[in-house]
Amino acid sequence: MKFIIATHNMKKQAEMQRILAPLGVEVLTAQAAGKQLTDVEETGSTFLENAVLKAESGCRESGFPCIADDSGLVVDYLGGEPGVYSARYSGEHGNDEANIQKLLKNLDGVPYEKRTARFVCSVCVCFPDGRRLSVNGKCEGFIGFEKHGDNGFGYDPVFMVGEKSFAELSAEEKDALSHRGNALRELVKVLPDYLK
Ligand code: IMP
Repeated sequence: MKFIIATHNMKKQAEMQRILAPLGVEVLTAQAAGKQLTDVEETGSTFLENAVLKAESGCRESGFPCIADDSGLVVDYLGGEPGVYSARYSGEHGNDEANIQKLLKNLDGVPYEKRTARFVCSVCVCFPDGRRLSVNGKCEGFIGFEKHGDNGFGYDPVFMVGEKSFAELSAEEKDALSHRGNALRELVKVLPDYLK
């Protein structure tokens, strides 16, 4: 079975491909499937609402089952910020460096034990017959005082799990702990019933 992925993020696509391939699910970008998807405005107030918006629109427009993820960082000391605004926290969409600098500034002087945070991920799959399947995953950690490591993307250099940041882990190590890895492993548990 072919799933269209409603994202331009190749890292997300690769991660989903890797995890869903054993179920016989091929994950393709819309472009690779010869389809053009409209960019959906993420107007939801939760990760789940945004994942559903993206997957429903992609399914409607392509006619294929469509998978979408929405994810972000939730920092307790900041009342849950940046949350659903993670990608555009500094104002400019997708400016990772500016987002990290704003986060570190907002946590200036806050001691380590109060810098608790979690990455959250919602994944939704919509099928052309109207069925919809959603799963969630999270990963708990702390926001470091400065950046560590060069791997990954987004807030990885300041998200600490134990002694290391996400950006100091290999892709496999991050997958084993990450919010997206956890959500996709949950999906793998429930998806076979939907594919029957
Ligand atoms: P989305 O593509 O709308 O889901 O935006 C998610 C945003 O949250 C990204 O731009 C990153 O800033 C952040 N984010 C989500 N997942 C991760 C991750 O695994 N590592 C680092 N940052 C992440």
